[in-house]
Amino acid sequence: MHHRIVIIGGGSAGISVAARLRRAGEDDIVLVDPASWHYYQPLWTLVGAGVVAIAKTRRRQADIVPKGVAWVRDAAVEIDADARVVATAGGMRIGYEALVLCPGIELAFDLVPGLADAMAGPNGATNYAAALAPKTAELVRRFRGGQALFCAPGSPIKCPGAPQKAAYLACDLWQRRGILGGAQVTYATGAGGIFGVPEFARVLEDVVARYGIATRFSSELVEVDPGGRTATFETTGPDGKTRTRLDYDLLWAAPPQRAPEFVRESPLGGTSAYGWVPVDRHSLRHVAFPDVFALGDVCDAPTSKTGAAIRAQAPVVVANVLATLRGEELPGRYDGYAACPFTTAYGKMLLAEFDYSLAPHPTLPLIDTTRERYDMWLLKRYGLPAFYWNLMLRGLG
Ligand SMILES: Cc1cc2nc3c(=O)[nH]c(=O)nc-3n(C[C@H](O)[C@H](O)[C@H](O)COP(=O)(O)OP(=O)(O)OC[C@H]3O[C@@H](n4cnc5c(N)ncnc54)[C@H](O)[C@@H]3O)c2cc1C
Repeated sequence: MHHRIVIIGGGSAGISVAARLRRAGEDDIVLVDPASWHYYQPLWTLVGAGVVAIAKTRRRQADIVPKGVAWVRDAAVEIDADARVVATAGGMRIGYEALVLCPGIELAFDLVPGLADAMAGPNGATNYAAALAPKTAELVRRFRGGQALFCAPGSPIKCPGAPQKAAYLACDLWQRRGILGGAQVTYATGAGGIFGVPEFARVLEDVVARYGIATRFSSELVEVDPGGRTATFETTGPDGKTRTRLDYDLLWAAPPQRAPEFVRESPLGGTSAYGWVPVDRHSLRHVAFPDVFALGDVCDAPTSKTGAAIRAQAPVVVANVLATLRGEELPGRYDGYAACPFTTAYGKMLLAEFDYSLAPHPTLPLIDTTRERYDMWLLKRYGLPAFYWNLMLRGLG
């Protein structure tokens, strides 16, 4: 098999790119993805809040793959970037002229001893997996007081704001039920602060104070004892690293994340421990292989790994792939745009939009997005999912 364009991964990035390539008139596109379901993951925050059912966040992949795109329902297992061939688990070998690499992220629970068992046990949950997001809602609803820990690693994860959002929504519910006063809520993160853009960080600091959440920055979750219900954190400070063990009644954790194994083991994977695909941050072209482009969670563009970033990356990749096939200069340039919709309470959202300069980058006219708003909550709950399914995945937005 040989094709002009091969796309690995039919998630937010792969389907957006495939749809845009079709609209540009390309008729020899192969999409490789083994998944039967396509998930709109940003709604998993609201699944964890008990507002949306997990079944409402997914659609059949067969209904999403754009018409005219050949779908190989198989997993890529190896890429020979010199020979320009992708090998699949089912034994196919697919040659390409241009490759778009976007297989997303692998959750790495194994990097924290005890974390996987804690998530499977009665006191642990996360919104990072379809199977566990509904459990967040259940544990938050059953919580009657005690120690609640919300944790995020310092290494790159998708939607880095998601752990905070889970904490804020839980605190809001507990406040409404009169049990927040009897709870000790901690937000522990390997990052050095609440958020990298000062204009939004100020608002989030007020939200943290409003709920009485204790923060621990530069604190990595390094071990969990699910039986004893303790979590150990390693905190980096001016005098080096110190370890602290905290008891918990509820442990909500974003696991460390990395590029999928077949990417890390291929020459296309980066040299960091997480194996993100190294790309030029503006053209999204692979630094070593000019006929390969990567976007979405798997690439090392230094911005927040979000669907919002993909919305800005997809047209750039499409323009640059087409130019590469024509032997022309690359016209597309990605400015690092990403957005993080912080749900700070039921009915309140702060929409943080920014770019590589880490300055606010608002895209909604006449709306002050530097404060928590009800209309932004409605955007998250109804507007963005409709935009995603009806426009973005069809190459129209
Ligand atoms: C809890 C949570 C909240 C979030 N909130 C937001 C938000 O509010 N706003 C926002 O913009 N973003 C948010 N995100 C992030 C957003 O969902 C991701 O950034 C986005 O889905 C990444 O798209 P992707 O195409 O890179 O990966 P994915 O959408 O994860 O798709 C990857 C695809 O690759 C396929 N694949 C994997 N391995 C292989 C293989 N070996 N061969 C072939 N195919 C393979 C998979 O089956 C999958 O279909 C959130 C994510 C989570 C988990």
